[in-house]
Amino acid sequence: MNFFKRLFSWKKKPSKIEDEQEDEIVDSDDNKIDKKESKKLKKIAEPEPEPEPEPEPEPEPEPEPEPEPEPEPEPEPEPEPEPEPEPEPEPEKKKKVGFFKRLFKKTDKENLDKSLEKTSKSFFDKIKKAVVGKTKVDVQVLDDLEEILITSDVGVKTTIKIIESIEERVAKDKYTNAQELDVILKEEIGNIIYDDKKEDFNINDKPYVILVVGVNGVGKTTSIGKLAKFFKSQGLSVLIGAADTFRAAAIEQLEEWSGRAEVDLIKQKMGSDPASVSFDTLNSAINKDYDVVIIDTAGRLHNKVNLMNELSKISRVMQKLKQEAPHEILLVLDGSTGQNAYEQAKQFSEVTKVTSMMVTKLDGTAKGGVVIGISDQLNIPIKYIGTGESIDDIELFDKVDFVESFFQNKSK
Ligand code: GDP
Ligand code: GDP
Ligand code: MG
Repeated sequence: MNFFKRLFSWKKKPSKIEDEQEDEIVDSDDNKIDKKESKKLKKIAEPEPEPEPEPEPEPEPEPEPEPEPEPEPEPEPEPEPEPEPEPEPEPEKKKKVGFFKRLFKKTDKENLDKSLEKTSKSFFDKIKKAVVGKTKVDVQVLDDLEEILITSDVGVKTTIKIIESIEERVAKDKYTNAQELDVILKEEIGNIIYDDKKEDFNINDKPYVILVVGVNGVGKTTSIGKLAKFFKSQGLSVLIGAADTFRAAAIEQLEEWSGRAEVDLIKQKMGSDPASVSFDTLNSAINKDYDVVIIDTAGRLHNKVNLMNELSKISRVMQKLKQEAPHEILLVLDGSTGQNAYEQAKQFSEVTKVTSMMVTKLDGTAKGGVVIGISDQLNIPIKYIGTGESIDDIELFDKVDFVESFFQNKSK
């Protein structure tokens, strides 16, 4: 039976040469070696030889009538009583996918390396000390490593996770060379970083609204300027809303950034209702057909309830104009505050539905390890990182590039 199926599947092969081989095999049943070899060939040529994995072709004793060994063996056994209510929304989704705009920016490796230099150097100086004079990764080395990770702002939970996975590996290979610790670490850290590569903007549903939240001073306004310029460079039109109406200086500062990015801005007087500014901004963006709206907010976390109310009011009011707004709630975190940034991320995600993060000020800090803990613990993608005070000091967060730069002292 299997034998037949295999023959059939061979017949499906597109290659004429292989078809000839098959004929030969069928005609001359004496050369079984040829058969095996051609099977091997087939395996090399086609990585998925599906006919084999199906273990249930036996119940039906009539293999000849159906010469198509299709890989779907489930149509008969499952009567599927479910009425499947979701066939309609699916095509819609699929239609929209075609309208996603994928943001692209090649990582400025030099800039990223420079930003993470302090973090990386401080981390590996400690590692070097921990493994000096050691030939294998023993309990002492692992203890030291745990301390190093924690003091590098990776965070306790994530550190424990990393240590446990390294322990497991070391247990398998008792003589893991201490000098290879960084190789193992690199792999484990790479595995742990949450990296969600989703399409960025649904152009079909424009304007795409981004609500920027975060504690005062983390770099929201600066980051909005950077984002505006970046989006513009991607061919998108951008409108900024100055909904941090708490201080006059905040509005002026945002105006300055919108000028640098050469994008438009909607503002009201200081002290006006942030929800009203957001409404005006979205309204204008809809009328003038902008692609992206970015709303700046005042991030006063001192009162969770107030903040929650303010952010949900902004969303609610914008939803009068556009049901889906805001499409994205981007939390900005100051990476130089280390574990504090992690605490903020936790608190903000309790207050509002944070959908993405930007970690700023990774330049000039040794606390960049916090990125590892945040992305592991929160399951919210870090989309961008801030690498300086200038408008172009922004990188799309890429896990591989990040790990490479984090390990720059070791990969050279
Ligand atoms: P906001 O209060 O959250 O709006 O923060 P601001 O945008 O006003 O920024 C606060 C300070 O952080 C400013 O001095 C910025 O220049 C600085 N800043 C923002 N992002 C970065 C960054 O990626 N790197 C560095 N070094 N400084 C930054
Ligand atoms: P509520 O606070 O939940 O009752 O929400 P409202 O619907 O009263 O709106 C709250 C705020 O959003 C208002 O005080 C306005 O500042 C703003 N807002 C709502 N609708 C509009 C509008 O049509 N235009 C403008 N400019 N602002 C609006
Ligand atoms: Mg600000």
